[in-house]
Amino acid sequence: MASKKLIVLGSVNADHVLQVDSFPRPGETVTGHGYKVLPGGKGANQAVAAARLGGEVGFVACVGDDDFGSRMIKAFRDDGMDTRAVMAVPDMPTGVALIQVAANGENSIAIAAEANASLTVEALEQHLEYLGGAGMLLMQLESPIETVELAARTVASAGGKVVLNPAPAQPLSDDLLFNLAMITPNETEAEVLTGVTVSDEDSARQAADILHGKGIETVIITLGAQGAYCSGPDGAQLITGFSVKATDTTAAGDTFNGGLVVALQEGKAMDDAIRFAHAAAAISVTRLGAQTSIPNRGEVEEFLT
Ligand code: ATP
Repeated sequence: MASKKLIVLGSVNADHVLQVDSFPRPGETVTGHGYKVLPGGKGANQAVAAARLGGEVGFVACVGDDDFGSRMIKAFRDDGMDTRAVMAVPDMPTGVALIQVAANGENSIAIAAEANASLTVEALEQHLEYLGGAGMLLMQLESPIETVELAARTVASAGGKVVLNPAPAQPLSDDLLFNLAMITPNETEAEVLTGVTVSDEDSARQAADILHGKGIETVIITLGAQGAYCSGPDGAQLITGFSVKATDTTAAGDTFNGGLVVALQEGKAMDDAIRFAHAAAAISVTRLGAQTSIPNRGEVEEFLT
């Protein structure tokens, strides 16, 4: 029988956030305020979400050998994660996102993979036995694609389920798609993967059918405030989300994915698992930030009662 272990593989970033009145033009300097360095990266966000929401989570990632990297490893442990496969890369900074937020709410973001680029096939090969013990593996696309492909092959061939949140959007090889048990694109990512412009239930169904044709059993397309369209062995339906006053949707998708895999790993039925994930993501959009906005299990259970 497959282990109950849930493994998340992905990126870790230091988000450097600065508020500005308006973005600087080339050559211009503007004065900002409210500078903060916040924990981010889709891999870390989803791993933290899964751990806070009740999962027994192992994380596979690379951080730099800098202060932020060591603080992140400690924070992951404080959230109850197994960090044996979080590697600190010598002479490398942790991945970084430079984020300017303008007064009108618009973002301007520059990112650099830095240590995340060191999560190579060779680095992953040190942890293949660990990875092979996953009952479920959750990944995104902020890591080298060959590594994502190897991890998917390893877990699928050992009988585990591979879930891919294909963000940021990019075309994927048929080999990778074939090893997935489940894919969870948002509307933009679904369009990049299928060519179908997704905006509602009908277009989501068309996109899901194309992805089923690539060998993926379950397709969940998240539709922001509308909820998520789920198509799998038990049928297809739009499952609406919860209506809340959204303050900041950063990491809504990451919280949804973390909650979804935890609920499925516990054996919840698909529609219950999606409702649990919707609740976790709905709470996160009422709060500011990425990892700072992710709720814990107790908060979600209270929200659902
Ligand atoms: P992000 O990039 O902002 O993290 P995403 O584009 O990956 O998110 P979305 O499809 O926008 O993902 O949202 C994922 C899930 O988050 C939705 O299925 C829903 O559960 C929840 N969600 C997002 N926006 C809202 C909202 N305004 N109100 C309630 N729930 C929301």
